[in-house]
Amino acid sequence: MTNADAPAGEALLELRRRYRRERERRVRPDGPRQYLPADSGSGAFAADPWAPGPDRREPVRDTVDVAVVGGGFGGILAGARLRQRGVRRIRVVEKGGDFGGTWYWNRYPGIRCDIESHVYLPMLDETGYVPEWKYAPGDEIRRHAVRVAEAFGLRDEALFSTSVTSLEWDDAAEEWIVATDRGDVFRAAYVVTATGTLSEPKLPGIPGIEDFGGSVFHTSRWDYAATGGTPDGGLTGLAGKRVGVVGTGATGVQVVPELAEDAGHLYVFQRTPSSVDVRANRRTAAEHVGAGRDGWAGERRDNFLRIVSGEGAGEDLVADGWTASAALLEKLLPSFRRSGDRESFEAAYEAADAAKMDEIRARVDETVADPDTAERLKPWYRYACKRPTFSDVYLQTFNRDNVTLVDTADTHGIERMTRAGVVAGGTEYPLDCLVLATGFSVGASGIHSGRLPVRGRGGAGLQDLWRAQGPRTLHGCTGNGFPNLIHLGGAQSASSVNFTHVLDEQAVHAAALVAAAEAAGAVVEPSRESEDAWIALLAADAPDHEWFHAECTPGYYNAEGRGRPNGPMSYPHGAVAFHELLRRWREESLGEALTPRRSPRA
Ligand code: NDP
Repeated sequence: MTNADAPAGEALLELRRRYRRERERRVRPDGPRQYLPADSGSGAFAADPWAPGPDRREPVRDTVDVAVVGGGFGGILAGARLRQRGVRRIRVVEKGGDFGGTWYWNRYPGIRCDIESHVYLPMLDETGYVPEWKYAPGDEIRRHAVRVAEAFGLRDEALFSTSVTSLEWDDAAEEWIVATDRGDVFRAAYVVTATGTLSEPKLPGIPGIEDFGGSVFHTSRWDYAATGGTPDGGLTGLAGKRVGVVGTGATGVQVVPELAEDAGHLYVFQRTPSSVDVRANRRTAAEHVGAGRDGWAGERRDNFLRIVSGEGAGEDLVADGWTASAALLEKLLPSFRRSGDRESFEAAYEAADAAKMDEIRARVDETVADPDTAERLKPWYRYACKRPTFSDVYLQTFNRDNVTLVDTADTHGIERMTRAGVVAGGTEYPLDCLVLATGFSVGASGIHSGRLPVRGRGGAGLQDLWRAQGPRTLHGCTGNGFPNLIHLGGAQSASSVNFTHVLDEQAVHAAALVAAAEAAGAVVEPSRESEDAWIALLAADAPDHEWFHAECTPGYYNAEGRGRPNGPMSYPHGAVAFHELLRRWREESLGEALTPRRSPRA
């Protein structure tokens, strides 16, 4: 569909009214408070199903060069880039039982990367690995994470099934004291935090969730003992069983077809339907992605980032649903730039958005046989309001006799659980097994959460400072008063749908900071003035599209319907410009962030 076919005039006004009605139907007064962290109550929902058995070890008491908090792709990339810079003792501390982060925890059936593997999997050039599928299965991605970690020798020093509980700067020794929940207290000249943004699973805060008599678990803690099978399917334990799944986001869309395949009957409890576009997953021969040529993966990844950041790139190498809709996705990014005058730009944007969403809704009608079910599967909001999803089997699943869609929008979701099952719309659905595909809390781990108290120079608390003054960083990665502490992640840096690319650029930057400080016999700490200048730049150029998120249907993108909660949190000109800015700063200004050490490092 083109803009020419898009709704206009009265049809467009009606579409706006419809979007507003649907949003109002969904906004809950309790907003983000409707959820419970998975580790609340007995903590059973958060337990690690994959830990390789009791891991008894003596507490560690020693000194390393760099402590890395988090063993997902961020921490692994930090370790790898530091190693490339010649750093020797690198200790990754990871809550899970192995490397992998989100790909360690999430092993639900049907799990696949929703970004093309050849641009999502980092360090393909360095490791010589070529993914087999355009969108790789989760286990392949997890194994790649382990491959990179091992290739750069990160396993020997790593502490698994261990959470860092505090970071304290020792002013006299000019090093960090790292404490963990396993009794470790060790020292590190530098600390890199890479704790992820969507790493803490959340549960619906409904009565009775611990009383259910059947098996119930979050998708990131899949219970294969209850379901049988593997991430590739074959869930034989569900044969003849009544199974429920709550949630139809990116995870729900992947998991529902797998559950339907093996369950006696599947009830899909939906609150807001996802937009579900064409996936067209396929095996990809190495020659089709140019693998074998030096630097092929880096070029492809840059090409994708340019397109989804609205920079234009000539040839579209990945050519998929993300790149096709890149212009609409810019609303997700602070890099959103309009051309021409505001009014005509917004009108053209809205028309393109309406055309895309009409196409998505038409796909539902074409695919789902029952008109009433089809109607309830149609998303009524703008494309960038929620993370778009892609599947060639999800909508088709609702044509099966053993699948029932239960629409819970009018009651703001499922209402309660009983010993026997789930209550939705006043009806009790007896179940043997319930899967919670209810997502993750944003920024609930690491330095943003208060779960990891950080004390810098003079004992100053990082979280107290940020609570009082808002997050304060230079480039999102270092902060005044917190020497040799480097953050990887989204706040006050750039964002992109291809998260691993941004993490890798941040890891390169972190390693360059450490290498420069080592060479100069210095500590890394930005001045208060450079922080002020950075925050002023974020605020001055902040895009004026908060209204867009404020009018969106609720979800984690807009603090459950409340708009953007934290002010100008990201670099406003997009990831490509941000990476270039970091490169230039390293060449021209890095020295300004170095202060000579009082005594050389032991
Ligand atoms: P989401 O937060 O996107 O979805 C949670 C779902 O649970 C929503 O459909 C939500 O409805 C529903 N829900 C929550 N509470 C209730 C309730 N009380 N009753 C009924 N429904 C409820 O989480 P996901 O895990 O699906 O995805 C999170 C993110 O993880 C994605 O956006 C993506 O960034 C990433 N991801 C990436 C994948 C990849 O391949 N790279 C795969 C999977 C996830 P509502 O929308 O109304 O709030």
